[in-house]
Amino acid sequence: MPAGKIRTLGSILNVFDQALTPDKWHDIIRQIQETATKKTRLGIPVIYGIDSIHGANYVQGATLFPQEIGMAATWNPELMKRGSEIAAMETRAAGIPWSFSPVLDIGRQPLWPRFWETFGEDPYLAKVMGVAFVRGLEGSDVGSQDHVAASLKHYMGYSFPLSGRDRTPAWISENYLREYFLPTFDAAVKAGAHTVMVNSAEINGIPGHVNKHILSDILRDELGFKGFVVSDWEDIKKLVTVWHVAANEKEATRMAVMAGIDMSMVPLDYSFADYLIALVKEGALPQSRIDEAVGRILKVKFELGLFENSMPNAALKSKIGLPASRQASLQAARESMTLLKNANNLLPLAKNRKVLVTGPTADSLISLNNGWSYVWQGSEESLYPKDRLTIRRAIEAKAGAANVTYVPGTKITRAPGSPSNSTPTDVEAEVDISATVRAATAADVVVLCLGEGSYTETPGNITDLTLGEPQLRLAEALEATGKPVVLVLVEGRPRIINRIVDKAGAVLMAYNPGNEGGQAVADVLFGDVNPSGKLPFTYPPTPNGLITYDHKAFETEDAAFGNMAFTPQFEFGRGLSYTTFAYRDLRLNKKTVTGNSDLAVSVTVTNSGQRAGKEVVQLYLSDLVASLSPAGKRLKRFAKIYLEPGQSRTLTFKLRSDDLSFIGANNKPVVEPGEFEVTIAGLEDRFELR
Ligand code: BGC
Repeated sequence: MPAGKIRTLGSILNVFDQALTPDKWHDIIRQIQETATKKTRLGIPVIYGIDSIHGANYVQGATLFPQEIGMAATWNPELMKRGSEIAAMETRAAGIPWSFSPVLDIGRQPLWPRFWETFGEDPYLAKVMGVAFVRGLEGSDVGSQDHVAASLKHYMGYSFPLSGRDRTPAWISENYLREYFLPTFDAAVKAGAHTVMVNSAEINGIPGHVNKHILSDILRDELGFKGFVVSDWEDIKKLVTVWHVAANEKEATRMAVMAGIDMSMVPLDYSFADYLIALVKEGALPQSRIDEAVGRILKVKFELGLFENSMPNAALKSKIGLPASRQASLQAARESMTLLKNANNLLPLAKNRKVLVTGPTADSLISLNNGWSYVWQGSEESLYPKDRLTIRRAIEAKAGAANVTYVPGTKITRAPGSPSNSTPTDVEAEVDISATVRAATAADVVVLCLGEGSYTETPGNITDLTLGEPQLRLAEALEATGKPVVLVLVEGRPRIINRIVDKAGAVLMAYNPGNEGGQAVADVLFGDVNPSGKLPFTYPPTPNGLITYDHKAFETEDAAFGNMAFTPQFEFGRGLSYTTFAYRDLRLNKKTVTGNSDLAVSVTVTNSGQRAGKEVVQLYLSDLVASLSPAGKRLKRFAKIYLEPGQSRTLTFKLRSDDLSFIGANNKPVVEPGEFEVTIAGLEDRFELR
């Protein structure tokens, strides 16, 4: 392009959808910045952004971590922070200063195809993990060579579509929006996050991208957010083409910018800038609003150090894929492993047993990683590193190849033409169930790896949470052999397994544990690692049995008809260990709390088994009477601790007055006097708030 014709752009984002080598990234970023800083009128550097969702997943050779749902299962914010520090270091090393993460949506609708991108169903757990994610990405100086700017997404209420399909309507009252969906964003803004990305769907009929109340009144005036707000992918155009709230793109641009959008993610054309100029010339958009948005964007560019040096630094490339980073990913994957069932202590397995490894996720790095891995849908086998172990390979390495037989049983493949917006993307089929059954009769134990392929966004829509029929048939056939069967679930959302769970000897939830996940699964199966993950969501027993742990008491109690009992397949916060933990002496430092005074809750935990292990101590609070019908219980504090056999520890949690509050009918936090109950691992006590 001749110099005079070069357009000034604020930002560029990943439009290749393919992980590139660090060298290639450096070439691209250098060319962009050279053009921006030397060949445009003002010489302003571009801010390049990318989805580093579970590590720098668009950089070849980078460290891939468990997806957020698995990180949540570790209940270990230190590991989350370490993981996002590494993601930031490796993203910056590629020359990219901005990441479209973390996802701070709350996963309360398991059909939703981005469920695994969340920290699960509980706002408190998600808030603690989300803040850790932001701190790791941004550090204390976002402009340093090891950090990047975060983008909190998708602000807000995106994750709760009525139908479960991506980018479809949610109905959420403002008090519930504030109670369940705002706290993660609130806390992450307070932790200093520099950018926010907008909900690409709608709430109560108002598309996220024109919701001034959410984007300006709440985000700016209440939370005091000072950074910039970026739209999601082409979402200003979609105000015309999808949501039908604007007659044309120019009008859509005006509406979105006046609602609070500072930057448009419009990857394929320059229309946004053209419309802005026209709108200002016509007097339809005040110049001051443009100045405000530009000021916010420039400030972030300054803070990122782009005005001092926007060029990639060749010396940083050696920081990508360090052994210590891989070790951190392995540690996270290990701590995410959640043991949900272990009848007669089937696990851990002895290393000399004859093992049949089978199932569609047994020999696949794709399932271990899921979407946002090398490509958007995570589906390109050839891009995965050759030296990472699938579950099958990790078991062979541990138990000796001679002890292990592998038969696929069933397979999950991509529908022709994928990725596209058609659904479903994954196609399941039987390979050879009878051969698998024959192999089982010759084995001592069957490790059956079930779950999902890879997906995100619309291509991952499903209309039934039930696990694929070929997989259920495979499981039933194997269980009928009488051999002990260990189910390993490699999946981004809880697929219904009630047909096969009772006859399974053990169930290990692996989520999407990343490139070290195969190793981590084998470590737990054979007892080299004692599992310590806890479910960050309620595992439903049936496709329609969707209810969260913090449901209201009356949802599951019906004295008159007795027909509402609910037994989740597996409870939120649950996860077994190879040792046992005993709890005693739950104590409150007072029985009456007045005004703003704190309450101290202590409890003593003992490792009462034979092995060292980690336990997640969880404190729940119940507000017994409230002006809005209260949840049965809510998570308020947790701590992950390590105990040697026989060792005890007393923990003290402090509850503050805002822990006793909820969002009232007037959309404001209220603290109401009355009785509260504190529960920790089945121990309970009460206090009164006056
Ligand atoms: C997704 C965002 C993502 C963006 C850029 C959108 O389709 O909703 O989460 O950050 O694409 O890749």
